[in-house]
Amino acid sequence: MYNIQQIRSDFPILQSQKNGKPYVYLDNAATTHKPQDVLNSIQTFYASSNSNIHRGIHALGEQASEQYEASRETVRSFIHAESASEVIFSYGTTAAINLLANSIGNCWMRAGDEIIVSEMEHHSNFLPWQNMCKMTGAQLKILPLGDNCELNIKNLDALISEKTKLIAVTYASNVLGVINPIEKIIRKAHESGVPVLIDAAQAVQHIPVDVQRLDCDFLVFSGHKMYAETGIGVLYGKEKYLEELSPAFQGGGMVSSVSLDSTKYAELPFKFEAGTPNIAGAISLKTAIEYIENIGVDKIQDYESAIVARAFDGLSNLEGVELYNNPNNPGGPISFNIDNASAFDVASILDKMGIAVRSGTHCAEPLMKHLGVSGTIRASFAIYNTEEEIEYFMTGIERARDILL
Ligand code: PMP
Repeated sequence: MYNIQQIRSDFPILQSQKNGKPYVYLDNAATTHKPQDVLNSIQTFYASSNSNIHRGIHALGEQASEQYEASRETVRSFIHAESASEVIFSYGTTAAINLLANSIGNCWMRAGDEIIVSEMEHHSNFLPWQNMCKMTGAQLKILPLGDNCELNIKNLDALISEKTKLIAVTYASNVLGVINPIEKIIRKAHESGVPVLIDAAQAVQHIPVDVQRLDCDFLVFSGHKMYAETGIGVLYGKEKYLEELSPAFQGGGMVSSVSLDSTKYAELPFKFEAGTPNIAGAISLKTAIEYIENIGVDKIQDYESAIVARAFDGLSNLEGVELYNNPNNPGGPISFNIDNASAFDVASILDKMGIAVRSGTHCAEPLMKHLGVSGTIRASFAIYNTEEEIEYFMTGIERARDILL
């Protein structure tokens, strides 16, 4: 059973009120709230184990290192990686993709090589590749959006060539919710020996992710979008590729020996973790994963699908609302506009009613261009949103429409 009241009571921020009413938070694709367990884990780390990791042999150092490595093992198990050495802690999705883009740029790319990204990518999975192409003379190729804003993988045939070094694509759009056919993309890429990076920033908190079943070569996500702290994220990579790539960042903690003229890198995963990492963040991610697993990812998926369906139906039936999601694949975040009202004005009215949504381009300007809009209003959902909140959100949209049109 999905105990929504219990779940809500686990999140201190949901107990606070705005104008005498609970604040309705529908900006979960930007970041989620944190349950008390996660807050406690951060406090407990600093209160009883604070120390740097993998450095001193003193008791606190060992305690902190053990907790950090236990977090890595929890992440490994959560995404079903074969080995914990394939789990690199980074500072978030953006940092993880930049790390990978710099490493790939240094090691694999030559002028004339190619990278494929889709037209719906978040800037975080677009700009690092665009920049890397500029630095190396490689070419960025775009997998375009087809009908209903879905990726048509038949188009991949024309894009993949013997020069393709990577395909980078999002699992789920942060704007349109659509879940992409990544298994088919991966299979097709592998037929040509091309590795695939999956941006799972909008997936891991909503649907079960198994990197071995997907057979993806790299996968990234952020802790703060899945109830953990900000400043912690993960780069998963198949061991064979991580062994082959050299690290983009250099510094303490990632070497086995250094002399004045040469350096031997440490083993995986440490060679990609230069400098002091976000130790408390990694511990908070472990707690957040345990929190999610305690509820059950399948149950979360069922519950959230019902919430999304309710919001999607409600918005579909409101006059003047233009929805951009694919009705056959509405996924998670829902993007829309109200006739020609500005998305910013709608979001401001909703905010006054105690409803948080996002307005703007959602760091996906190529997608906005495809949709032919300067921005959208986006509502995005999490494990603690309720049917009553969705009803209130509908009332808010109607009110905004009546005021603005
Ligand atoms: N990719 C996607 C699909 C996202 O939704 C986001 C965050 N909106 C990012 C990448 C970037 O994540 P972060 O800001 O946590 O690095």
